[in-house]
Amino acid sequence: MAISLGIIGAAGRMGRRIGALACEDESLKVVCAIDIAGHPSQGVDFGELIGVGKLTVPISSAWSQKPDVLIDFTRPEATMKSVAAARKDGIPIVIGTTGLNAGQLDKLAEAAKQIPVLHAANMSLGVNLLFELVQKVAVALGEDYDIEITETHHRFKKDSPSGTAMELARQICKATGRDVGRCLMHGRSGAEVGRRPGNIGMHARRQGDVIGEHTVAFSTLGETIELSHKAHSRDIFARGALKAAAWLVGKEPGLYNMMDVLNLKSKT
Ligand code: NAD
Repeated sequence: MAISLGIIGAAGRMGRRIGALACEDESLKVVCAIDIAGHPSQGVDFGELIGVGKLTVPISSAWSQKPDVLIDFTRPEATMKSVAAARKDGIPIVIGTTGLNAGQLDKLAEAAKQIPVLHAANMSLGVNLLFELVQKVAVALGEDYDIEITETHHRFKKDSPSGTAMELARQICKATGRDVGRCLMHGRSGAEVGRRPGNIGMHARRQGDVIGEHTVAFSTLGETIELSHKAHSRDIFARGALKAAAWLVGKEPGLYNMMDVLNLKSKT
């Protein structure tokens, strides 16, 4: 039987692509499409909104039937409401929303004691592989290589730096024993902002319709190594979210990420 899916943030850029790709997959069935009360798409048939024909699933502000799994791509404060409702109803939830603060991440961990929760700043295989690669390169090159992370996204993106750029920094810090709270230098402007040993530079660009690009540069006197990832469309994230949702159904309560779904740690 098909896995029933509830999409939260259904009218958004990611929600619409997740819906469209779910409709191409016979093992999945979209049963609820949720967006914020007052959104102009409220009451509109989700299938018609995303151009796949009528689904008889109106956009609504809450689920009327409990899906097997939820996927949330919204805003941090909305995600917190989704998690509370998922916990109350005992529904596994995949979260792609970025920009969650430490307190909000703590609440995910708390909910994960009762339901399966999967949170990933980036759902693509390539970026999750990059998370592993940057650790290896940072350790191999050592302290004499200056690390600068640059990310570029479309003009509509609200949070900065991107969740993916922050995760790249966290992975490097974890591997090299740095304190992520102390070593990040966001942008570089002013008179006394020269490079200090161990700093990781973080730079965010917002331009046009760029889907998402990340580069980690490692430089010393004489050479630079760059590791880059470019998303060609949102579908790479949407497919990852659907894969994560199918994987999460039936799992024990716990906090998971894409590394678990893709089983990457053992391959690199
Ligand atoms: P978007 O603004 O196009 O869509 C967000 C949707 O959430 C909107 O339709 C909005 O109305 C809805 N929303 C807001 N508050 C809500 C609430 N309280 N209840 C229900 N719906 C609500 O944004 P987007 O480009 O789709 O991105 C959404 C999030 O996903 C962002 O945090 C973005 O950074 C993240 N993202 C993650 C990945 C990944 O792979 N993890 C990939 C792309 C984007």
